[in-house]
Amino acid sequence: MAQVGLEHLTKEFKGPGRERIRAVDDACLAVDDKELLALVGPSGCGKTTTLRLIAGLEEPTAGAITINGQAVNGLPPKDRDVAMVFQHYALYPHMSVYDNMAFGLKLRHFPSAEIAQRVKDTAQILDLAACLNRRPSALSGGQRQRVALGRALVRRPGVFLLDEPLSNLDAQTRLQMRAEISRLHARLGSTMVYVTHDQVEAMTLGHRVAVMDDGRLQQVAAPIDLYQRPANFFVAGFIGSPPMNFFEGTLLGKGNALVFQESTSKDAAAPNPFTVRLDDTSAPFLRDYLGKRVVFGIRPEHITCSPALAETPSERVLETVVEMVQPLGSETYLHLAGHAHSVVARVRAADRFNIRQAVSLSFEVRQVHFFEPASRKAIV
Ligand code: ADP
Ligand code: MG
Repeated sequence: MAQVGLEHLTKEFKGPGRERIRAVDDACLAVDDKELLALVGPSGCGKTTTLRLIAGLEEPTAGAITINGQAVNGLPPKDRDVAMVFQHYALYPHMSVYDNMAFGLKLRHFPSAEIAQRVKDTAQILDLAACLNRRPSALSGGQRQRVALGRALVRRPGVFLLDEPLSNLDAQTRLQMRAEISRLHARLGSTMVYVTHDQVEAMTLGHRVAVMDDGRLQQVAAPIDLYQRPANFFVAGFIGSPPMNFFEGTLLGKGNALVFQESTSKDAAAPNPFTVRLDDTSAPFLRDYLGKRVVFGIRPEHITCSPALAETPSERVLETVVEMVQPLGSETYLHLAGHAHSVVARVRAADRFNIRQAVSLSFEVRQVHFFEPASRKAIV
């Protein structure tokens, strides 16, 4: 059993000009026993530093780390019941797979019978049993990655910390390894913190996903909740591919209805800004923003595209021109221009659109998100 807690955890580094770099900024998080928590964010946001703090490889500047409710600040890495798989793992090239996996246990003076048993069991789990006598150079990328995992697994720690373990594999192997890690987690029943910069990987692996940006945890939630109810502008734009479309504008009252009116663009080539009449269910919580500037967000799958209408377009409709067509086989992404900025819509593969074709867009108004421009927080 192993729970991990971060309590107002902060880590500052000194930069080259002695300036302070806040790599982790007041992080609070509780990872449950047996949970697989995915920690995701862009490069440089503080993911590796967070893992290294949990592992005991860095000293926090402020705050605490707990494992099973006990503060572990100051406890050396070897006494933390934690094993980390590093992003740039290096296998010992002159050692066999067996010796690579046994190395950590030998250092810890495990009896050789125990080492042999653990390496054998772990190799079985990782499908490496047939490779134990090989050198790393005689393995595929996926197999090497499994040996790196195996080195951590043989220790049977309560907590696994994985730092972008699949980032140097090709796309196909990555998909396969992702599924293996998921199965492995279910089989081991250990607590895992899985770091990745890939939001798809985070969403497909994590029981919950913690999104980080600029040292700060932005939101921690189940994948679907994160997608459907992003807490702020950053999460809304980071989770989902292609990303959410954003428009700036103002909320206005028109009779009893509430409408979003897009800001006029300085670009003379852009057509008239669009107006969307909002759903009555979203109206109550938006009333406070009447007359104020807001950011309107809509995901590509909540836009309906139809060949341009001859008659005057109704409200909620946006006139655009197809700029790029990206067929994926199962679905197609349309990049649509002729507006303040390009809009991306997801359409069925069977619906054929051509470049330069005029297309009318309408929005599913129940699926619209709003954000406060200053705080960048979602308006809910
Ligand atoms: P990520 O893993 O999300 O890419 P890191 O945790 O590696 O991010 O880094 C977060 C920030 O801290 C970056 O700005 C990085 O340059 C800085 N940083 C990390 N380690 C050190 C260090 N040892 N000394 C100075 N700055 C560091
Ligand atoms: Mg990193």
